[in-house]
Amino acid sequence: MVNIDAWKELKQQLDPKNITLVAVSKTKPVSDIMAFYDQGQKDFGENYVQELVEKAKELPKDIRWHFIGHLQTNKVKQIVPFVHLIHSVDRLKLLEEIDKQAKKVDRVIDVLLQVYIAEEETKFGLDEKEVVQLLDHYSAGAFKNVRIRGMMGMASFSEDLEKVRLEFRRLANMFTFFSDTVFLGNRDFNICSIGMTGDYHIAIEEGSTMVRIGSMLFGARNKN
Ligand SMILES: *Cc1c(COP(=O)(O)O)cnc(C)c1O
Repeated sequence: MVNIDAWKELKQQLDPKNITLVAVSKTKPVSDIMAFYDQGQKDFGENYVQELVEKAKELPKDIRWHFIGHLQTNKVKQIVPFVHLIHSVDRLKLLEEIDKQAKKVDRVIDVLLQVYIAEEETKFGLDEKEVVQLLDHYSAGAFKNVRIRGMMGMASFSEDLEKVRLEFRRLANMFTFFSDTVFLGNRDFNICSIGMTGDYHIAIEEGSTMVRIGSMLFGARNKN
């Protein structure tokens, strides 16, 4: 069940702060997406390539599709023709492949670097050293068809909100640091994608500019 009231309340909180809401529609039918689209929601997030490609085919062309899941290199070419923002660049090889495929379709793809901030081993992401290495390549002009717009992270799935807060803070500090140094205040590097249903309040307090919210809007997802 979609919760339009929750969407309206959320927008009231986010809009004055200029925080972008990505409605995470994974596992949910296109009819649910349309319910929010009809309210004016244009940014939607998906985390499986196949599902995203199928939904994008059926839905209005002005939807901005965010890819937020782990992205296999061999699937990049399927989303590059239409994707709006890839949140989950977690290795150099992936960035190289996005650049290569984007060139073929004559696009420049906006991406975020996914940084590992949680203690859970199941989560993907670059550590700080890997971010520095990757940005070295980027600054040297290695990629013409990707534009790094910021960073994304997921906090630990934990009841300990203080821990969650510190993880977000670490990412937000890294974001500010790279913005001031590598990007020299370039306004293109301006997206800090943190915050989900359970922790977006904290993420906002710690400097989020983009939240990715699923279950609060679309209802709980079925496991599997
Ligand atoms: C599923 C998912 C979300 C949304 O999670 P909710 O807790 O349902 O809001 C956000 N980010 C990523 C990367 C996800 O996979």
